[in-house]
Amino acid sequence: MSTSAGNKPEEQNAPSVNLSDDEWKKKLTDEEYRILRKKDTEYPGTGKYDKHFEPGTYECAGCGQNLYDSSSKFDSHCGWPAFSSSLAGSVKRHKDEDGYRIEILCRACDGHLGHVFEGEGIRDSNGKIIEERHCVNSASLKFSKKN
Ligand SMILES: [Zn+2]
Repeated sequence: MSTSAGNKPEEQNAPSVNLSDDEWKKKLTDEEYRILRKKDTEYPGTGKYDKHFEPGTYECAGCGQNLYDSSSKFDSHCGWPAFSSSLAGSVKRHKDEDGYRIEILCRACDGHLGHVFEGEGIRDSNGKIIEERHCVNSASLKFSKKN
C-alpha cells in the first residue's frame, strides 16, 4: 500500500473524470455527447470502427482512458465494434434501465460505451468460442495506432 501523493482512493467507485453536463457538451462533438453522456446508440454499420482492424488501442473518446486492445476485437457482423474483453479495470458494468441488458461504461468518466452480452456461443475468426461480446459504439472510442 502506497500512501504517496497522487493516490486516489475514490477511483474505485466515483468517476475520476467528473465534468458538468455543460463542460461535456463543450468538450465532445454532438454525436459523442449524445452517446457517451445520454446513452444513445449509433446506427448499426455506420460507426468508423465497425470494420476497423488495425493493431492498436481503443481509448475512451470522452476522457482518453485506455479501454480495449485491438487483439480482443473481432468481426461480430452486428454492425458495431465488438470486443471479447476489455483492458483490466477500465470498464464497469451495471444493469441497463431496460432491466435485462448489461450496460458498459468507462470506469474513469462514466461515459456510456454500449452493452455486454454473454454466452451467445459465437466464435471469432480462429473458431474460438467468445465468452462475452462487448458491443461498443464507435463514437465512444478513439483509436490509437500501435507504433
Ligand atoms: Zn472515459
